[in-house]
Amino acid sequence: MAETKSTCCYCGVGCGVVIEHEAGRITGVRGDPDHPANFGRLCTKGSTLHLSASPETLAARALHPELRARRTDARTRVSWDDALDTAADKFAAIIAEHGPDAVAIYGAGQLLTEDYYVFNKLMKGLIGSNNLDTNSRLCMSSAVAGYKLSLGADAPPCSYEDIRHTEALFISGSNTAFAHPIAFRRVEDARKANPDMKLVVIDPRRTDTAEAADLHLPLIPGTDIALYNAMLHVMLWEGWVNRDYIDAHTEGFDALKKIVREYTPAMAASICGLDKNAIEQAAQIFATSKATMSMYCQGLNQFSFGTHNNSALINLHLATGQIGRPGAGPFSLTGQPNAMGGREVGGLANLLSAHRDMANPAHRAEVAALWGVDSVPATPGKSAVELFKALKSGEVKAVWIACTNPAQSMPDQALIHDALKTAEFVIVQEAFGHTETCTYADLLLPATTWGEKDGTVTNSERAITRVRAAVSAPGEARHDWAIVVDFARRLGTRLGKGALAERMFSYASPEEIWNEHRESTRGRDLDITGMSYTMLEQAGPQQWPFPEGASAGKVRLYEDGVYPTPTGRARFVATEHRITAESPSAHYPLHLNTGRLRDQWHGMSRTGLVARLYSHESEPLLHMHQDDMERRRLADGDLVKVKSRRGEVVLKIQQSATVRPGQCFVPMHWGGNTMGGQGVNVLMPSDFDPTSKQPELKHAAVQVEKYTAG
Ligand code: SF4
Repeated sequence: MAETKSTCCYCGVGCGVVIEHEAGRITGVRGDPDHPANFGRLCTKGSTLHLSASPETLAARALHPELRARRTDARTRVSWDDALDTAADKFAAIIAEHGPDAVAIYGAGQLLTEDYYVFNKLMKGLIGSNNLDTNSRLCMSSAVAGYKLSLGADAPPCSYEDIRHTEALFISGSNTAFAHPIAFRRVEDARKANPDMKLVVIDPRRTDTAEAADLHLPLIPGTDIALYNAMLHVMLWEGWVNRDYIDAHTEGFDALKKIVREYTPAMAASICGLDKNAIEQAAQIFATSKATMSMYCQGLNQFSFGTHNNSALINLHLATGQIGRPGAGPFSLTGQPNAMGGREVGGLANLLSAHRDMANPAHRAEVAALWGVDSVPATPGKSAVELFKALKSGEVKAVWIACTNPAQSMPDQALIHDALKTAEFVIVQEAFGHTETCTYADLLLPATTWGEKDGTVTNSERAITRVRAAVSAPGEARHDWAIVVDFARRLGTRLGKGALAERMFSYASPEEIWNEHRESTRGRDLDITGMSYTMLEQAGPQQWPFPEGASAGKVRLYEDGVYPTPTGRARFVATEHRITAESPSAHYPLHLNTGRLRDQWHGMSRTGLVARLYSHESEPLLHMHQDDMERRRLADGDLVKVKSRRGEVVLKIQQSATVRPGQCFVPMHWGGNTMGGQGVNVLMPSDFDPTSKQPELKHAAVQVEKYTAG
């Protein structure tokens, strides 16, 4: 038996794994005891990774390129040459007739940094459009925008190590116990080691994470800003703000102070549906502990004001000086394994390589020079929702979807399915051929996946870690980066840029791509010029920044109180409570909240292959409070129709004390192909935050009634 060290491909904790394999087959997996993210631990998902790569799952894999001439035809197997020539012909013809913005790429936080880098270079460098977005838009873009707005850069200041040092941990909008289980094990360890450590959980539901808290604030969905403003009101009233820190390291406090004057605990209690004493208690714990840290995720991000949710929380850290010290700071948890790596290479429609600013001509010129092209476009491309709307309207004619399943994961599913039906040409690059999005593929490109790929990912704490191949690709599957490189050369020839494309995409390995990315970071806030593949293999994961000449990366940012803003000061964001895209009404009286289960991952294309992972919850259930069920004469196991302004789903109901009256919850993992035609996201709105463009996937107003067939 052989062993290969790699990284778990699920959540942003980024646990190290040891893959056991024999005769070209993965036979087992265990936690890497040397990996600083997990020190040998794995959760149920990570510890069953080998089962999702067993020979029995081969039937779910895309193994050969497949193409169809017309939408009504079935796809048939073709050679890679035919597949990529057809793709390049289509893209070249559309670009020639309609311009570069008529094509788009939609990727994923599951792609490795090297894959992301070449996709970005292809779209923004060779094609000349910024129409490259990814499913990270659904996940982390409000955290990115919040960090940039408040602190000046997209850089989480904390590390997992800080959990051990904190005296008060606030978990907001995250069921960490389910979604980031190994990070939560650290929280449990820290509380055992320090019984005085306080855990405060802010979440509409009484999740497993909330169950463990000293104080749970079950606020009405989307009322976080009112809560944080009221906490600051209390801190000001009680004299708990840190005036020295505010004066020395921040700006904009007076404007915020004026706003929070109105947010009395009583006023916020009525907006948030909370006890005013609990708000005061939370404010005291936050401000008076020796070290306060926040961990947060989609419950803050997935709102049409997600950026300001983030900034309102960061305001509390700045006002109390709870940042830049061991155990103190705002720490966004990344949902996906490489959402961070994607951000580093500029893998969103409004980002440029190495945290450069698309609006800055000097930054665009730097990227153009690095890539050897005349220029990169200045106008942001289409973000996820905008992209699919443009596909539906015909403004974008062809889309290349890689490693993600928007036909299940995007909100307002009717819009997305219409867009994919309307598109002139859809390429889907996937390891698994059974996703809903694959049904729309005119061209299916089989890709390698976990256990077969080489490259790097970056986890929530800015640690870059190696991903390694243990076995070779099944069938004719190819690595994502290699498919892009091959396509780019063919497209370049057709665009009359053959020599340029050959120069731009001359890579023979992921390491060569990573080395170019590394060079792009020189002198930037995320400088990694002091790292190498060899170092990552020999010394293990490293945190950025790690410039050339440094002996180690940075565990913690902003320890000197200097921020990467024009003035060097962090910015208070004066923000007010806003209402969600839709409010409950007489017709749609319930708040619907969506979230993750312990044992499933995203759209279940991988975890759905592992029978053991259904033992926790085997089907999607609508969780509802007893009062609401009695009012509707519903009993456990009844089939109910859940209807929003956009669509409806039918599923079983279960009484649950985890949700408050007037609210209900459904897990987000099941799609139309496993729920009789319509997945959960058919219910959710596509309204998005104007800054981050992140859609409001966390909330919809719905009605629930007993389902009667026919
Ligand atoms: Fe994988 Fe996340 Fe579980 Fe770690 S916590 S094993 S990264 S799913």
